[in-house]
Amino acid sequence: ETQTQTLGFQAEVKQLLKLMIHSLYSHKEIFLRELISNASDALDKLRFEALAKPELLAGGSDLAITIDADNKAHTVTIVDNGIGMSRQEAIEHLGTIAKSGTSDFLAQLSGDQKKDAQLIGQFGVGFYSSFIVAEKVEVFSRRAGLEAGAGVHWTSAADGEFTVSDVELPERGTRIVLHLKEGDHEFADQYRIRSLVRKYSDHIAFPVRMPKPAPYKAEDEEKKDDSVVAEVKPEDAKPEFETVNAAQALWARPRTELKDEEYKEFYRHVTHDFTDPLAWSHGKVEGKKEYTSLLYIPSRAPYDLWHREGARGLKLYVRRVFIMDDAEQFLPLYLRFVKGVVDSADLPLNISREMLQQDPAIETMKTGLARRVLDMLAKMAKDEPEKYATFWKEFGTVMKEGPAEDHTNRERIAKLLRFSSTLADKPEADVSLEEYVGRMKEGQKEIYYVIADSFGAAKSSPHLEVLRKKGIEVLLLSDRVDEWLVDHLREFDGKQLKNVARGELDFAAIQSEDEKKAQEELSKGHTELVERMKKALTDQVSEVRVTARLSDSPACLVLGQYDMGAQMRRIMEAAGQ
Ligand code: ADP
Ligand code: MG
Repeated sequence: ETQTQTLGFQAEVKQLLKLMIHSLYSHKEIFLRELISNASDALDKLRFEALAKPELLAGGSDLAITIDADNKAHTVTIVDNGIGMSRQEAIEHLGTIAKSGTSDFLAQLSGDQKKDAQLIGQFGVGFYSSFIVAEKVEVFSRRAGLEAGAGVHWTSAADGEFTVSDVELPERGTRIVLHLKEGDHEFADQYRIRSLVRKYSDHIAFPVRMPKPAPYKAEDEEKKDDSVVAEVKPEDAKPEFETVNAAQALWARPRTELKDEEYKEFYRHVTHDFTDPLAWSHGKVEGKKEYTSLLYIPSRAPYDLWHREGARGLKLYVRRVFIMDDAEQFLPLYLRFVKGVVDSADLPLNISREMLQQDPAIETMKTGLARRVLDMLAKMAKDEPEKYATFWKEFGTVMKEGPAEDHTNRERIAKLLRFSSTLADKPEADVSLEEYVGRMKEGQKEIYYVIADSFGAAKSSPHLEVLRKKGIEVLLLSDRVDEWLVDHLREFDGKQLKNVARGELDFAAIQSEDEKKAQEELSKGHTELVERMKKALTDQVSEVRVTARLSDSPACLVLGQYDMGAQMRRIMEAAGQ
């Protein structure tokens, strides 16, 4: 080994390492999932790069992952013959360049270990999770296409530094050796690893191989006849390996063959999210464009849901060959929380992000996939309202962007929206527009809403006084996107959405004859007062009128029918001023 270099981890990486080791001790086994996941990514990348450069496969096209455990040396070794890393790549990817979003992520941590463990899982700790169980990690890697002498040996004890040196490696790919911590020797057990591999990698599309277990031999029998034992397993014989997973892309298998647990595990593989998804939808579309998709609804919003640069999109495969992560062209922005895979049968293998943007076929797929998600949500809302409530709590605000972005599905999205209303007067948004319409009073033609900066302000708006008295339900809107939403939604089921603080309310429909008469009398009797107020407020208001909308407050300000965008915070009670 030559050219040894010791480098410090980047500050963010250091922080992440420390946090991880301390908050993930109850999820120790995930290190194996992460390392298998990386090996599988490396094989995917090799296969993809080899499309253009078949010579990269020189030295073997049997792509596989091999895992072995040594209970005497207390090591676990994970090998793949994938893309590998050059020395420079090893330095960057395993220590000096934090993943994008790391600092945002770190800023979100609360210090509460349990919560942070959840978040950290969602962030995808990846390679560094090795240090949850290992006191020292060694990586031997050689990039496909480079010569044997260009291998790199990376090693660290997670003490703030790592070392790299040149090493001769006869084969391309990566070998990772974990030297287990004193308390974690249990992971060097073949059976333990085997069961974890089954649990975590059945859906991995490449074979995961492990040594064949030695034929069973009772302890006392062995003791009786040493010579037999020696014959069965000579100390230095190479063990025979066998494939321990299904080694088939999960989405390519028939739905009927798949268990819920397998779908959930695949979700973890795609997202690194510890918690189970709320729902998934797996299907194949045949016809002009043929593709398979497996889409998941997570049960919590990711930390970067509101970041412009936040990762979103699906994993794209073409005929089972991995093409790219975060292909965002397949879903509209308001469905950016959806995770999963799309596998096209007819896109070219060399398709690039730029091409995806221009290809009209992608637009068709996008429409189809959005429809699939909306159908899945509609089904959840109908059959599992509790789950839907969770969904709404996490992603409702994003869904509200839908009507503006996706005109074709406006009605479908509208049915999925949930609001607070004066019926229950609680902040939980659980009223659908369909329910609202079903409860509309005889003669009521519009869907009433009030909009304010907070739920409390909406709920105590003076504009609600008479409507409350009459038992007319009003939607209480206080999300920042609500104004934008109602502007684009405009109506539902043929009924206009009506801001009760804007223009005149159509009370005729909901007033009794007597009330109408009393109202007219009232107006006539106050013409003089109205005139005087108009004069006094010439510069402040455009009109003064006697209204039926108040019952307790003496006066309120309303917006003109066509006034733009002003918010409820401008409402003031004239009383006492
Ligand atoms: P992620 O997989 O989310 O990118 P990881 O921390 O798991 O993050 O891995 C960091 C990077 O290290 C990977 O993106 C990849 O570039 C590199 N890497 C890790 N394991 C391997 C491997 N087995 N073969 C090749 N590159 C790897
Ligand atoms: Mg990874």
